[in-house]
Amino acid sequence: MNDGKQIWVWVETLAGQVKPVGLEALHAGKTLAEQLGATATAVLAGGPDATVPEAVTGSGVQQVLLIQHPHLDPHNSLGLVEAFAAQIQSRQPAVVLMGATNHGKELAPALAAKLGVGLATDCIALDVEGDTLKARRPVYAGKAHITFQFGEHRPCLLTLRPNVFRPSQATAAEAAPVETVTAEIPEDGLRLKIKDVVQAAGRKLDISEARIIVSGGMGMQKPENFRLLEELAEVLGAAVGASRPVVDNGWREYSNQVGQTGRTVSPDLYIACGISGAVQHLAGMSSSRCIVAINKDPNAPIFDVADYGIVGNVLDILPVMTAEFKKVLSP
Ligand SMILES: Cc1cc2nc3c(=O)[nH]c(=O)nc-3n(C[C@H](O)[C@H](O)[C@H](O)COP(=O)(O)OP(=O)(O)OC[C@H]3O[C@@H](n4cnc5c(N)ncnc54)[C@H](O)[C@@H]3O)c2cc1C
Repeated sequence: MNDGKQIWVWVETLAGQVKPVGLEALHAGKTLAEQLGATATAVLAGGPDATVPEAVTGSGVQQVLLIQHPHLDPHNSLGLVEAFAAQIQSRQPAVVLMGATNHGKELAPALAAKLGVGLATDCIALDVEGDTLKARRPVYAGKAHITFQFGEHRPCLLTLRPNVFRPSQATAAEAAPVETVTAEIPEDGLRLKIKDVVQAAGRKLDISEARIIVSGGMGMQKPENFRLLEELAEVLGAAVGASRPVVDNGWREYSNQVGQTGRTVSPDLYIACGISGAVQHLAGMSSSRCIVAINKDPNAPIFDVADYGIVGNVLDILPVMTAEFKKVLSP
């Protein structure tokens, strides 16, 4: 790994704020830079008026690269591939990290293909052995872990699973210098142009980044009963998730779905309500730090992965939990 001295971290922002996964990637990047004797560079992209939040300049990275272009605001993955690839080719970082978010999942493979380099996706741990970078990720729907080792092509591209790595704290005494570059994005080569971004009405916390998720399955019995989950989520500051049949039935939107064909989540606390624990559901949530399951069937497979289990009718238990949490958490 001595063939490059820079670790780059693509920091995602939303409305001028660093997304939590951006802070996590920054921390992972700084740690890696220390282990490899390299420098950490935060990379941000945006329109001509884009600025760098203090959480990035004060994060302890050695430098910040801000890539600007009118086609990068709003986010345009094809434009970003062009802009990012050009910077990587001219500056040659050894490693590029980004969050395994919707944007990261779109950007990283396109970038890897354009640069002809390897990509490790959805990593949950990074390790350095001698000069070799190793990355671990779950495979076979979370039943096993695989460790990747990169070949000789640089940079090593990695996406990091949200909520797994510790977030960076703004600790640096001095702000890192910001270098601003204007990207060259060929107008005729840009096959995708974003005309408008419409925010979903009443949009709640994104389940991929939520620290607490209250998730409902078919045991909730009808869509109206999800009100009980919304109430508990409100008290806990949580996001509401769902199993696939709930989504297939149209009770919740697809962005709520947890599992193999939905989102992969790793919150601090996952409360599974009336969810059986099918392997496809577990694939999306079994890396949660603490799992609480509520199910009327004591033999439901969800109890095999749960840290705490409650056997009973979820419709009776949820209002009691909400009332108790309200008492404990109210100021
Ligand atoms: C290719 C493929 C991909 C898939 N991808 C996903 C995926 O991404 N995510 C996903 O979730 N599933 C996925 N599935 C579906 C998965 O196999 C299961 O069918 C699904 O997870 C079951 O959802 P459930 O637990 O909500 O429903 P059920 O299996 O119907 O379980 C309902 C549970 O609720 C309990 N219950 C019922 N009433 C109550 C009550 N009053 N109080 C307490 N408990 C109660 C029951 O005991 C039961 O355990 C996929 C399947 C396939 C084949």
